[in-house]
Amino acid sequence: MPGSTGVPPIQYGYGTASKALDLSVSYAVVTMDVPWSIVGEFVATPPQKIVEPTSMTLDALESMARSIPKVEVVFGIGGGTAHDAAKFVAMQQGCRLIQIPTMIGGDAALTPPVGVRKEGRVRYIGSVPCDRVVVDYAILQNAPPELVRIGACDCLSSETALHDWRIAAGADQAAWDEAVSHDACRTLDSIRRSRFQIHDCTPRGIRAIFDGFASYAKLALDLGNDRAQEGSEHFLAYFVEFLTKRPYVHGQLLGVCLAAVAYLFGESFSGLMSTLDDMGINTDPTRIGITADILIDALVGLQDFVREGGYYYTHVHERTISRTEARESVRALTSVK
Ligand SMILES: [Zn+2]
Repeated sequence: MPGSTGVPPIQYGYGTASKALDLSVSYAVVTMDVPWSIVGEFVATPPQKIVEPTSMTLDALESMARSIPKVEVVFGIGGGTAHDAAKFVAMQQGCRLIQIPTMIGGDAALTPPVGVRKEGRVRYIGSVPCDRVVVDYAILQNAPPELVRIGACDCLSSETALHDWRIAAGADQAAWDEAVSHDACRTLDSIRRSRFQIHDCTPRGIRAIFDGFASYAKLALDLGNDRAQEGSEHFLAYFVEFLTKRPYVHGQLLGVCLAAVAYLFGESFSGLMSTLDDMGINTDPTRIGITADILIDALVGLQDFVREGGYYYTHVHERTISRTEARESVRALTSVK
């Protein structure tokens, strides 16, 4: 519902992007080179302004937002960075927001919170309503398949997150909600059932991922936190970003961190690895430039990181990871094929 910070409606189909961009009001576009070279050709009336976010720090976002004249609609076209930066502009201007993903790096297009980077950590500074998310199958099927499939990791994270939540509830550090956890498991099942469709990037596979995002976004609103979808696997991803000081495609990094955490804390590492494999998602950290040593350091130091960062209670809070365990976990990620 426009005007609320609920879960935005998703418009699925072929050719939906060009229809969404065929509008007679003033608009700006937050995007990157590659996505704009694809989507820009659908545009009938040029935007007032096209901006490329260079960094997600508050200063950089404010200066980007200042360069955009007052418009009625802002589009976020691309991956997570474009969606997050477009949310910031919509929040500053109070204008309508429409998100058009050209890859599926994660669930940023669907979630209302606006995140910025501060001293290497993500901080949320508000929420913004989104008019709709426009999913154009033709655009997503033209993207490199890996950059579509990996979106599923932001749903599969529910597997380790639910374990964390259960541990936290057992330690009186979180309230358990049976109905929400039941819905989260149902969403996980439907993602797993679509594994081959996700691998082939069919409309059903693409839709399964976005429906999963919408489901988890709704559960987060019902619950008032992200426990159904985010736990120690996300915290590990944030710590790797913090240590390496470079951006990643969220789903790619999350695939690695999810598998590492599932090996150490999860109940079904082999089940998860076979799902990821069927989806065509590789969890070898070196493929995305993370050395074994970095991942080992991140696992060993994770407990201090989550405590210092004030993250909510998970397995990591109560269980120290030794260097030997961390090494084994990293080996497990690279040896399963
Ligand atoms: Zn995520």
